[in-house]
Amino acid sequence: MTKTIAVIGSGMTGLVTALSLSKYEYEVTIFSSNIKGEASKAAAGILFPLYPWKNSENMVQLCLQGKVLFDNYLKNLNKKEQEKISYQKKNLILLDENNEALNFYQKSKINFLSQKIDINNFEPCINYNQNDFIVVKDISCIDTSNLMKYMEVELKKANVQFIKKKINKTSELKKFDHIIVCAGAWSKSITNKNISLYPIKGQIIKVRSESQKVRNIILENGIYIMQRPDNISIIGATVENVGFDLKKTEEAKKLLLDQYERRFDKNYTFLDHLVGFRPTTIDNYPHIIKCNDNPKIIYNFGHNRYGVLTSFASAQIVYNLINEN
Ligand SMILES: Cc1cc2nc3c(=O)[nH]c(=O)nc-3n(C[C@H](O)[C@H](O)[C@H](O)COP(=O)(O)OP(=O)(O)OC[C@H]3O[C@@H](n4cnc5c(N)ncnc54)[C@H](O)[C@@H]3O)c2cc1C
Repeated sequence: MTKTIAVIGSGMTGLVTALSLSKYEYEVTIFSSNIKGEASKAAAGILFPLYPWKNSENMVQLCLQGKVLFDNYLKNLNKKEQEKISYQKKNLILLDENNEALNFYQKSKINFLSQKIDINNFEPCINYNQNDFIVVKDISCIDTSNLMKYMEVELKKANVQFIKKKINKTSELKKFDHIIVCAGAWSKSITNKNISLYPIKGQIIKVRSESQKVRNIILENGIYIMQRPDNISIIGATVENVGFDLKKTEEAKKLLLDQYERRFDKNYTFLDHLVGFRPTTIDNYPHIIKCNDNPKIIYNFGHNRYGVLTSFASAQIVYNLINEN
């Protein structure tokens, strides 16, 4: 008999979990409330870890596995679909190069450059006159919001049902064979109150320039700048441990715009200022496990800064958990 699966949450984690499971013989229903501060709607869409050497080995592995699976998914979209979600390959230029970063890339199989090269060969419009930086090659970038809209259409075509409903307890869904909790930073309120999970607020800015100013992803002091094909640049993001505080602050806006002006130019139109809550755990690795009290319930939350990048790899772990034994 076909198994029924309830997915709680329609951020990237929930959508990709549903998409991956709908390819098998499952009847999938997504339950989601329209919560403010959903991380996925604020996400930049960089499909690579920013500072991998600051993460645990298992998180880096999940990210790299996620990168391979995500790249395969993107490669199989047609050109029109790729354009719709602003899919591009870019280099990541790390301006704050240091020994830790160099050690990490030298030991890894990741394609990078660190010789003393002229930055203007890579990034003609940047105001930066030093030659110590690292270039990580060929990173996929997407417009996450547009990808989510596209996935919703595809999921509906695959007969996945969407129900707008806030779930307070997993017992509300006990008629399903499996319940996958993908409610991001809010997952704790539905599951185990003792589990480690808290929100880390991120503020991000969008500006439009008249022409292409930024070719690569420029990363410096934790702030990245990335320009999409429509000349909209994304500048992010703050990292704030302030609970579920939705306030957009002038301080954050200034910090991000100053960085753009310092490295690029002052001629832009300010477009948007977004806030999202990254679902974060103490050990900085997501909970992708069966619930101790009820193995029908599977957790898939806590992906912190890399929930878009790791979404396909996490969905694969969920599939394996459903099918173990
Ligand atoms: C500014 C910013 C930039 C980022 N950039 C990147 C990036 O470039 N690359 C990357 O990989 N990651 C990035 N991240 C991290 C990434 O956005 C998150 O890790 C990821 O979006 C988490 O996805 P999620 O689906 O688990 O949670 P969310 O996107 O927060 O979604 C949670 C879902 O659960 C639903 N929900 C909550 N409570 C309930 C309930 N009780 N009942 C029903 N539904 C409920 C919500 O409505 C929502 O649909 C960024 C994050 C921020 C904030």
